[in-house]
Amino acid sequence: MGQKLKVGIVGATGMVGQRFVSLLADHPWFQVTSVAASERSAGRSYAEAAGDRWAMSTPIPAAIGSLTVVNASEVAAVAKGVDFIFCAVDMPKDQTRELEDAYAKAETPVVSNNSAHRSTPDVPMLLPEINAEHLAVIDSQRRRLGTRNGFIAVKPNCSIQSYVPALHPLREFGVEKVFVCTYQAISGAGKTFKDWPEMVDNVIPYIGGEEEKSENEPLKVWGVVKDGKIVPAAGPAISSQCIRVPVSDGHMAAVFVSFRNKPAKEKILELWAGCQGKPQALDLPSAPKPFLTYFSEDTRPQTKLDREAGSGMGITVGRLRADKILDYRFVSLSHNTVRGAAGGAVLMAELLKAEGFLKAK
Ligand code: NAP
Repeated sequence: MGQKLKVGIVGATGMVGQRFVSLLADHPWFQVTSVAASERSAGRSYAEAAGDRWAMSTPIPAAIGSLTVVNASEVAAVAKGVDFIFCAVDMPKDQTRELEDAYAKAETPVVSNNSAHRSTPDVPMLLPEINAEHLAVIDSQRRRLGTRNGFIAVKPNCSIQSYVPALHPLREFGVEKVFVCTYQAISGAGKTFKDWPEMVDNVIPYIGGEEEKSENEPLKVWGVVKDGKIVPAAGPAISSQCIRVPVSDGHMAAVFVSFRNKPAKEKILELWAGCQGKPQALDLPSAPKPFLTYFSEDTRPQTKLDREAGSGMGITVGRLRADKILDYRFVSLSHNTVRGAAGGAVLMAELLKAEGFLKAK
């Protein structure tokens, strides 16, 4: 691999931004050369701006801690020093969309964690093991934006990353109905127990907008490319309840599923054991091997024990059994700020580079 691509992190001081900083500290292909956030952080060193909000278990990497934070709205200033950006900002949707469009139009590809462009038909929304072929829409997106290099690619909501990977290899049996209940960590709201003490010893039965995302986004991930756009899949019908629970990291999902042609339990386990995608075939640096791990013990996966599987990029599954109303039920888990956010975006950027969509300017 020649010179590393230069990357900017927009929203670098936030929970997902911090995860990018720690994941990219020694990345073999990408080097962080710019950090951006709101005007509140701009002008300070990254170490100062992140300050006591730093929530990662390893210290701020020295080379990034000394970078000066730039105001994210100074698009030209950020764009001139980087080959592409990762974006994870807490802003109103219309402003996020405008910001991401501005970077793309400045010929700086955007790999985004934000939801603003998830339903835009020519913006690929990738779970890289599942729908790498959706990158084909980037050419028509570039034509729409009038860019040569610039484009936007997004990752789906963190809630779906626990159960969509487990359902994906079973689609050949006609997944018909899915009921899912997610048990989501507080870092998914950008919080720690220190700044959200109300979550200690507590469960909150509502996460704004999450149920709609967890019911609709899988259909785009399973969609097909037609005339330069992604046409969402017609099914399965998904009904979800998303619940905030008092854990720091890790989203668990309890899933009930019915099929048009019910597979045998052994067949499901065999498909899960062999499940992999393009990231594994291309041996991308962040690709977990295995992608899915099934536990036969009734007490696994557990959030605390298993969220770091595959360095936080693996999906763990357990408790597959017959269901009295639908066909089967099972439990699955993913790390929400690694696989579900920054790590998933880094894997997507690795795929984009391997497929020739990200290059040095
Ligand atoms: P967060 O911890 O609240 O961080 C927000 C970041 O956005 C900070 O860097 C903040 O900068 C910056 N920001 C806020 N207002 C801004 C403005 N007007 N202009 C430029 N930057 C601004 O949020 P988060 O949890 O990291 O989430 C960020 C995004 O990722 C959201 O869209 C979220 O939905 C998505 N996401 C989060 C997760 C997760 O597990 N946390 C998972 C998937 C997707 P300052 O520090 O200067 O205020």
